[in-house]
Amino acid sequence: MARFARILTLVGLLLSLSTLHAQDSAYARRIIRDLTSPEMYGRGMQNRGDSIAANYLRTELKRLGVRPLTKDYYQYFRFPNTTTRPPIVKAGYRSQNVCGYIPGETDSMIVFTAHYEHLGMHGDTIFFGAHDNASGTAAVLDLARMTAQQEGRHYTYVFLFFGGEESGLIGSGYFADMPLIKMNKVKLLINIDLFCGGDEGLMVVNANARETAPYVDMLQRINEERGYAAKIGRRDNAANSDHYYLSQLCPAIFIYTLGGPYGGYHSPTDTCEGCGLGNYTRFLTLIRTFLERL
Ligand SMILES: [Zn+2]
Repeated sequence: MARFARILTLVGLLLSLSTLHAQDSAYARRIIRDLTSPEMYGRGMQNRGDSIAANYLRTELKRLGVRPLTKDYYQYFRFPNTTTRPPIVKAGYRSQNVCGYIPGETDSMIVFTAHYEHLGMHGDTIFFGAHDNASGTAAVLDLARMTAQQEGRHYTYVFLFFGGEESGLIGSGYFADMPLIKMNKVKLLINIDLFCGGDEGLMVVNANARETAPYVDMLQRINEERGYAAKIGRRDNAANSDHYYLSQLCPAIFIYTLGGPYGGYHSPTDTCEGCGLGNYTRFLTLIRTFLERL
């Protein structure tokens, strides 16, 4: 009987573990589905899709218990130039970064960033932007959700969702000029952009600088021990996402997935249905394990 009970307990444990994992990727799937819905118009200037998405993020942050970095979570900025190819914007158009934090025992900060806006619309065509970057936005929200549930945090966690990335890193560039946090207190900034798929592993940008290399070494060590990703590649710094201007103010890396499945890149085929999340839970566990060792 006792043995039977132990087996039952084991079965129960395995069931709850699998539910936990299913729930982890289910949360991200829900966020990606919402952000890529036609009601967000590709999260660009057309029909103010970017602001609809920003309001969605702010509501979600509030629900998760993430505190605002400004009175309403928003940091407003304006686009400097008019463009005629996607992302189509008018000079002077106002958009916003969405900024929150969860306090810890110290003011030393871990910062997560992702751009939530995308190419918007071209005529009647919606660019859904699941891979780019509803996926990274979902991952950062998911990390906020897990951090909020965690007890006894050493670091203060900051979560920044940038607009204007596709127009040339406008939102993150504005934040670098007008930071809402003390940048010299940032221990590490992790930007996530393009997070569907990942069958071939992960790539880390700005992995070889003096102040970031030890962190990437650690990520690779953890991955060698536990095999969360097929591989972790490393690249020198590049102005290819929102970590770039911030990397001049604090240690900052940019993580993206290698290999599919994802629906497309800068194409209307980049849909929620095309976004594979088969590796997602392992990638998030890798990041969480890394944070525990910091
Ligand atoms: Zn992107």
